[in-house]
Amino acid sequence: MKKLILVVVVLVALAALYFGNSTYKGKFVDSVKEEIKEVSIETMEKHEEMFEKKDKHGDEHTVDFSTFKKGILTEDEKLAIIHMREEEKMARDIYRELSKTTKSKAFVNIPVSENRHMDVFDQLIDRYDLEDPVKDESEQGVFTNTKFTKLYKELTEKGKKSDKDAFEVGAMVEDINMANLIKYGNVTDKKDLKLAYSTLLKQSKHHMSAFYRNLKRVGGDFNPKYITEAQLLEAVNSGKKHMEEEAMGGGKKAKEMLAEIDGVITKDELKKHNSESDCWVVYKGNVYDVTKFLPIHPGGVKKIAQFCGTVKFEETFLKKHGDTTDTKIKNTVGKKLLIEKGEIK
Ligand code: ZN
Ligand code: ZN
Repeated sequence: MKKLILVVVVLVALAALYFGNSTYKGKFVDSVKEEIKEVSIETMEKHEEMFEKKDKHGDEHTVDFSTFKKGILTEDEKLAIIHMREEEKMARDIYRELSKTTKSKAFVNIPVSENRHMDVFDQLIDRYDLEDPVKDESEQGVFTNTKFTKLYKELTEKGKKSDKDAFEVGAMVEDINMANLIKYGNVTDKKDLKLAYSTLLKQSKHHMSAFYRNLKRVGGDFNPKYITEAQLLEAVNSGKKHMEEEAMGGGKKAKEMLAEIDGVITKDELKKHNSESDCWVVYKGNVYDVTKFLPIHPGGVKKIAQFCGTVKFEETFLKKHGDTTDTKIKNTVGKKLLIEKGEIK
């Protein structure tokens, strides 16, 4: 019995030795839940799908308006296009700015999408010979419509305060964006315009979903000002479904964004941390950053370093230390590790 207690004590000490010096990185998953993909048959949906497909393969991101007859636009329809061209720019610029202070993948990936949305309205501006309110696409935070200048300033200031604020700002921008896309899509009878609005609405929902779920993850909540609670819920769910489908289909961006929201580490992410200067290992389903521990490992750096970025660490650890009764390790290194235990997150 005494021997058994000793074994348990040593095992606990060894585990503390390894993980006391590690940073917990999250749970490890290899894949995401599969969902059935619906096949759409409506013309609108076909076009939307084409846009998304192009999106995925990094081709030119345009909406194909060629099958639609060019109509004569009303003043309101023209103003809507001009308004949306800058609204998409505002979204892009705010997210780009917040990517400097917030590490989330959402602020890395979503502005790329917003840049494409700007292009869609640029296409319509060309198609209908309108004056482009965007003078220089690369100039961040500059708008012809002063309403956007003011919003850009307010929202970037708020978003820089914390990750929570940044995600809330993301949801606020998509709230405005969804509401306007719905409004302008409903008041026009032109098929090409309807197509642009419905295509971008779908994407705005995906963005809303990503920001909202990230916001929830960090303990925040969101009450929409322009769309309804039901519209928010539908957007969050459809965006979630879309992200899971993309991830299942091998979409790298969707995979990393999903992992972030779920607080899990994917195999792809794990694989990146495969060196002595950046070493993650998996132990009992959890991922640990053991980089700091490597240089003080009594058995030498190489014994662990060979497992950096792989799932094979646990098996060898248990084989090597699982039945050891060497109290020497416990006495010499154990104390030091207890102090650093707080590092586990
Ligand atoms: Zn957009
Ligand atoms: Zn968006």
